[in-house]
Amino acid sequence: MSAEPTLDALVEALRRLPGVGAKSAQRMAVHLLQHDRDGARRIASALEESVARVHHCARCHTFTEHEICAICASPGRDARLLCVVETPADQSALERTGSYRGLYFVLMGRLSPLDGIGPDQVGARELLARAADGQVEEVILATSFTAEGEATAHVLSQALKARGLRVTRLARGVPIGSELEYVDLGTIAHALVDRR
Ligand code: ZN
Repeated sequence: MSAEPTLDALVEALRRLPGVGAKSAQRMAVHLLQHDRDGARRIASALEESVARVHHCARCHTFTEHEICAICASPGRDARLLCVVETPADQSALERTGSYRGLYFVLMGRLSPLDGIGPDQVGARELLARAADGQVEEVILATSFTAEGEATAHVLSQALKARGLRVTRLARGVPIGSELEYVDLGTIAHALVDRR
C-alpha cells in the first residue's frame, strides 16, 4: 500500500488521458499541486459539469448540452443534405468554408477493427435511422482520406445504399492520408462541390 494514496490516485487518473504516460502524469500532478491549485480546481469543476451536462445530440450525435444541437435546431439549414464527418473538428472545418448549408451526422470516430471500434461505436445504427427520416435526399460521406476513413466511408456507403439512399463522397483533391480538420478551406469547399 502506498504512503500517498490520494496523490497516486491523481496520477493514475491523469494517465487515462490519451497519449499521457506515467512520467507525464506525474509531471502534471506536481505542476497542478505545486504551481496551479486554482487551475486544478477549474479543471475538476469543468470536468464535473461537462460529464453531468454534455451528451450526444439526438439528431446528429455530436456533443451538446441541449436535446438538439444548434445546427440541427437551425431552421435555415437544408434538411435534404446530410454530411457525415468523423469529429466535431471536421464539422467545424466544413462550417468555416461557408459553402455547405445542409445538416450533419458526427460519427465521433471512425472504424478501426483492430482497436475494437466497429459500426456500433461510430453510431452507424443511429446514422441509418437519421438518414431514413424521409427528408434526407443525399448523404455526403466526408470521412478523412486515411485508410480507416476510406474503409469507414465504404462500409457506411454500402449500408446507406442498401436502404435506397443516394450517397456521395467528397471529391479527391483533399490529399490522401489527411484529416479534414487540417486541410485548407478552399480545398474542402472544392471537394464538396465536386463530390460524386
Ligand atoms: Zn445535432
